[in-house]
Amino acid sequence: MILVVLENQRGSIHPFSIEAVAAGQRFASELNCNLGIVCMGEKVDELKSQAQNFKSSQLIIAKNPMIDMYSADGYSKVLSNIINELSPKYVLMGHSYMVRDFLPRVSAKLDIPFVSDIISVDFNNGSPLYSKQVFNAKLATSIELSSDQALLSFQSAAFSSDDIENGSPETEIEFDVQISDQDIRSESEPEFQESSSGVDLTAAELIVSVGRGIESEDNLPLMQSLADSMGAEVASSRPVVDMGWLPAYRQVGSSGQVVSPKLYFSVGISGAIQHVVGMKGSKNILAINKDEDAPIFEIADYAVIGDLMEIVPKLTEEINNSK
Ligand SMILES: Cc1cc2nc3c(=O)[nH]c(=O)nc-3n(C[C@H](O)[C@H](O)[C@H](O)COP(=O)(O)OP(=O)(O)OC[C@H]3O[C@@H](n4cnc5c(N)ncnc54)[C@H](O)[C@@H]3O)c2cc1C
Repeated sequence: MILVVLENQRGSIHPFSIEAVAAGQRFASELNCNLGIVCMGEKVDELKSQAQNFKSSQLIIAKNPMIDMYSADGYSKVLSNIINELSPKYVLMGHSYMVRDFLPRVSAKLDIPFVSDIISVDFNNGSPLYSKQVFNAKLATSIELSSDQALLSFQSAAFSSDDIENGSPETEIEFDVQISDQDIRSESEPEFQESSSGVDLTAAELIVSVGRGIESEDNLPLMQSLADSMGAEVASSRPVVDMGWLPAYRQVGSSGQVVSPKLYFSVGISGAIQHVVGMKGSKNILAINKDEDAPIFEIADYAVIGDLMEIVPKLTEEINNSK
């Protein structure tokens, strides 16, 4: 059996977990296994009603007031019990902050290897080969496991939610959660909110994202005009936020937001891996950069090589004239 464990994000399934479901369905079909989807902990009823739309062999509901709020102790205890009971071959999750916090504990408790932050999987005649980045993403390495069981977490966009097969679970079970006060020795702070501004980049369909290449805060209005002409939200790379030109909730990347708009229009961004992990799931990527060797062009669908200061005003004018 393959198990996918869902994570709550403000009452909905976390986007990384939705990608993990796509991964789970692929594993189940490649390895000819059953797929179980686990709804546990926070907002379990909301997770359950959304998970009922995914094709799976079994929906496993683990409900208990002691895990209504996330805690690494509570979650690792309950997931360990589920694994002990169901003996899945692989347990899959998105590589979120929560997973980084509690899944290593499950690995240590059960002595099952944990391959984290996987960027792709090659199904090698029933023996998956995992790729992950090492040395600050300068190199990629391949991992093949010899163990019978493994915990796996996937980097955003390793699998696409577009590939999910909708349907319904064949069966549904309530897991008998055995947990006591003594199991929970730590308490988690409430979830960190990136923004109270009302701007939700994760839901934006069009994003104009600006990088250090815009050179000065004085050039931001030009970029805002381009975004306005398209009805897009403005986002940025980290240096733009570090320099105080835009607020932190506009930052995309490993220490910012993870977005997947229909169009990600990158302006003066080099394409460092810490930025790319936050936007590579975009449906279309258009990049303007004056350096034809900029790494952003490796993932761009449309590449414009040139000076953004010349291109952006003309493009904005053209878009406005075409309305
Ligand atoms: C732990 C850690 C976490 C990080 N988290 C993030 C994160 O969440 N998000 C993030 O973005 N970064 C993050 N970074 C930083 C990341 O490594 C890069 O430094 C950053 O993404 C670079 O931003 P940039 O592309 O805007 O700037 P640069 O790398 O300086 O690129 C600027 C680009 O603009 C182009 N350019 C310059 N002038 C023009 C012009 N006139 N016309 C056209 N093109 C032009 C240049 O050719 C260049 O490619 C993190 C780093 C670390 C170590």
